Amino acid sequence: MELTFHGAVRTVTGSQHLLEVNGRSILLDCGLYQGSRQETYFRNQNLPFDASQIDYLVLSHAHIDHSGNIPNLVKSGFRGDIVCTYATRDLCAIMLRDSAKIQEYDIEYLNRKRSKKNQPPLEPIYSLTDAVNSLKQFIGIGYERPYTLFPGVTITFYDAGHILGSAIVALDIEDTASNSHRRVVFSGDLGRPNRPILRDPTFIDEADILLIESTYGNRVHDTIDEASDKLEKIINETYKRGGKLIVPAFAVGRTQELVYRLHQLIESRDIPPNLPIYVDSPLAIDATGIYRLHPEAYDEETADFLLGTRHNDPFGFDMVHYTRSTRESKELNFLNSPAVIISASGMAEAGRILHHLKNNVEDPRNTILIVGWQAPDTLGRRIVEKQPTVKIFGEPYTLAAQVATINGLSAHADRNELLEWTGRMKKRPFATFIVHGEAEASFALADALQAEQGFTNVNVPTLGQSFTL
Ligand SMILES: [Zn+2]
Repeated sequence: MELTFHGAVRTVTGSQHLLEVNGRSILLDCGLYQGSRQETYFRNQNLPFDASQIDYLVLSHAHIDHSGNIPNLVKSGFRGDIVCTYATRDLCAIMLRDSAKIQEYDIEYLNRKRSKKNQPPLEPIYSLTDAVNSLKQFIGIGYERPYTLFPGVTITFYDAGHILGSAIVALDIEDTASNSHRRVVFSGDLGRPNRPILRDPTFIDEADILLIESTYGNRVHDTIDEASDKLEKIINETYKRGGKLIVPAFAVGRTQELVYRLHQLIESRDIPPNLPIYVDSPLAIDATGIYRLHPEAYDEETADFLLGTRHNDPFGFDMVHYTRSTRESKELNFLNSPAVIISASGMAEAGRILHHLKNNVEDPRNTILIVGWQAPDTLGRRIVEKQPTVKIFGEPYTLAAQVATINGLSAHADRNELLEWTGRMKKRPFATFIVHGEAEASFALADALQAEQGFTNVNVPTLGQSFTL
């Protein structure tokens, strides 16, 4: 069999790995690469393989850097099944449409620049119609329900604990070339144990060939309890100052987790029960609806909370308000008392969060809470760095609000949690590939696997590199 790495190697975006076995081609993930606008466009537009020659797409989870190029794959001639969990399919139904709108918006920006240089305009990578068309090829399967892709190849999804629907993919293969049984395990994005809502990542006993993510292969997070305590403290301090807590957060996953945590903190009276919480993002509201649809993916604690006599919705309670319309969103500008506002985008690059930052960044009573990794050159990063002045909509604003960060809310396993997961394997794989991490993080994990756990043949592939196994 042959394995080729077409993305998310020595970087964290554009997850695409091609497995060729028994005369068929199976693509693992079809994510969008995210970099500078121009580079992003050409790299995502030109698929590195002939889409019509791919037989199956197996999708680990719905995040755009894993699923976002599916409409282009279908548009380019892919006719096979897209196999994923039910929740991943449902999240893709909203996220791919949202992504199409972003593609169209980005291309307008790029074309304005191109027209100034007398260059011909470019087409968006895909349209809303392409996104909707691609949904016709999805097939949902449940966790731990083995599914025969074609004779000789069976796939099984296990809990990855990263976002709703996220899966570790195991492929059990009767390989005709080597005349042997081989188990290929792709970790997808691995979550942390003990996170709210989702079950913990499943430990996998055995893999002959392992592909493992390494986002935090060289870093250790705060514990979940430390993160929860910090959140409580930040909310109470901001409340006492009469300020607002502004949280830029990814619409899918992070927002639902925050709402659920706040629900628990209000129930336990650890934060003021009269503190209003606003979720101001249409995509986050749609995603919350899909979280509600999939209680089969909840962990025991959330299931118990849900089944408790007084709750029927972990994401709905008296003090949480979901603002969908622009009018409701604008009304938040006139709020004059303590509140929590959670809005997208997660790195404060676009979306409604910009209005909330603009309105609140100059008031020292307020706190801007950063709960995720912020890429260089984003407004989120400038806020984390506490730059004295930040530009919002092109205008300078004094950063007078408090800035707090909580890294323990990460949806990715840290170094120790990744090693705990690999350490549970009863048999070491004969080949391991480290993916989905900046080079430094990937090499750190590769070193640790070899030095601490006796792994051999550990590779950090380069873009386009193929391995015959
Ligand atoms: Zn992810």
